[in-house]
Amino acid sequence: MKAKERMAIPRQQPQELGVAFRIKNFEEVTACFDEETAIREANRCLQCKKPTCRQGCPINNNIPEFIALLRDRKFEEGYWKIRETSSLPAVCSRVCPHEFQCEGACVRGKKGDAVAIGMLERFLADWMVTKGKNLMSSCALPKDKMVAIIGSGPAGMTAAFHLAHEGYPCTIFESLPAFGGMLSVGIPAYRLPRAIINAEFDALKNCGVQVENNVVIGKDLTLQQLKDEKGFDAVFVGVGAHKSRKLGLDNEDMKGVLHGVDYLRRVNLGENLNLGHNVVVVGGGNVAIDCARTALRTGSQNVFILYRRTKKEMPASMAEIHHLEEEGVTIEFLAAPVQLHGENGTLKRVECLRMELGECDASGRCRPVVVEGSNFMIEADAIIPAISQDVDHTADSGTEFEVTRWGTYIVDPETLQTSVPWIFSGGDSVLGPQTAAKAVYQGKVAAESIKRFLEGASLKEGREVRDLME
Ligand SMILES: Cc1cc2nc3c(=O)[nH]c(=O)nc-3n(C[C@H](O)[C@H](O)[C@H](O)COP(=O)(O)OP(=O)(O)OC[C@H]3O[C@@H](n4cnc5c(N)ncnc54)[C@H](O)[C@@H]3O)c2cc1C
Repeated sequence: MKAKERMAIPRQQPQELGVAFRIKNFEEVTACFDEETAIREANRCLQCKKPTCRQGCPINNNIPEFIALLRDRKFEEGYWKIRETSSLPAVCSRVCPHEFQCEGACVRGKKGDAVAIGMLERFLADWMVTKGKNLMSSCALPKDKMVAIIGSGPAGMTAAFHLAHEGYPCTIFESLPAFGGMLSVGIPAYRLPRAIINAEFDALKNCGVQVENNVVIGKDLTLQQLKDEKGFDAVFVGVGAHKSRKLGLDNEDMKGVLHGVDYLRRVNLGENLNLGHNVVVVGGGNVAIDCARTALRTGSQNVFILYRRTKKEMPASMAEIHHLEEEGVTIEFLAAPVQLHGENGTLKRVECLRMELGECDASGRCRPVVVEGSNFMIEADAIIPAISQDVDHTADSGTEFEVTRWGTYIVDPETLQTSVPWIFSGGDSVLGPQTAAKAVYQGKVAAESIKRFLEGASLKEGREVRDLME
């Protein structure tokens, strides 16, 4: 096919569940491409000599090659091409903010629509599952040094994946009853079905990775005990950022105030939580959008979001904003809560202020400034502040760790070794709340460092590591 013909193919659109049906359940909203649609979309790729899409991908997936294999109907080979760099293709293809990563860097996006790289990756990953293919490459014979992994999120899963493939017996310690970190207790199932996480989990277990749920490191066992009493030779700490940031308003502990990731964790762990008719969500990122869409699905009728900037500044992905608006959630731009009003300890109204955009920083992001006297009131049965998350430091209790002023762990950016030589860390606990793909990348980097540490080799020699902390 000539380049001109490829250019003439429009970006293929996935089928989606109708709004009236989907807001009543947690079924996956976006369907996978069928074979012919996937091939048509793959034909849009220009196979650039300098594939900028790869640079845009935090884990450097070989995008042109897997698309070329897909195009030739070599689906299994295409999947294993992705697996060379990614431990979680079925997850990343669904949740990565592609427009800011690979698709944002796609040459075709300069004059039209980027190639739907995420959907093509998903097609290959789902094809493997549908056809019942083995997702695990061969495992190595067990070595005599053991690694403890704290946290079963994408960073911990990836570290375990790579270390297990090197033959290092790994045990993942997870404080919650569920496995997968924010993939299971944050991101709702209508975006990431739990069967996908379970399939990855089974693949890990097949390679001998042990998982101990309901073990809180720092309480039930300390990091030092893992080393001194349980015989682990190195530890990877991938505890994420699970502490919801507060608004800092009076009465923030009253009934009807539920903080973003706490709310999602409760729903995702199976609690039946109907928040009432009117729900206000505060924030402009994916967490805020997930809270709003989840509230709709658990029975609230009038859900809206307060965001203190404009749509242009919203950090959430465009697809998420589109789905949110389709589902009838209103976004009140340039507005922020200023006071919570309750009766008998229960929230009744949220007092808000209008904002306007003031000075902009070097990146073009403008500071919201209060419009004095612009107070207005919203009736609310519940408010969900979803403005960010911090690292919970339970895991490092009793261990002298160096942390930044934001509370994230200080690590060597090339090796992810902490100030305690046998402890490594990566993912949200180092980067702050970020993305699954960045956690996957750091899990992989840490695994390589841990391997070298256990072998007594140089942690840095001959390595090229992306600094995601920039
Ligand atoms: C609602 C929501 C939506 C998101 N949407 C997206 C998206 O669309 N795309 C995207 O790329 N990213 C998204 N993210 C971000 C992404 O999920 C995270 O960046 C990623 O999961 C971080 O991986 P991690 O392994 O570092 O930590 P986590 O996934 O947070 O996993 C950490 C694990 O450590 C466990 N843990 C914590 N403390 C202890 C302890 N003391 N002992 C034992 N275990 C412990 C936790 O229970 C958790 O299971 C979203 C996050 C949230 C909250």
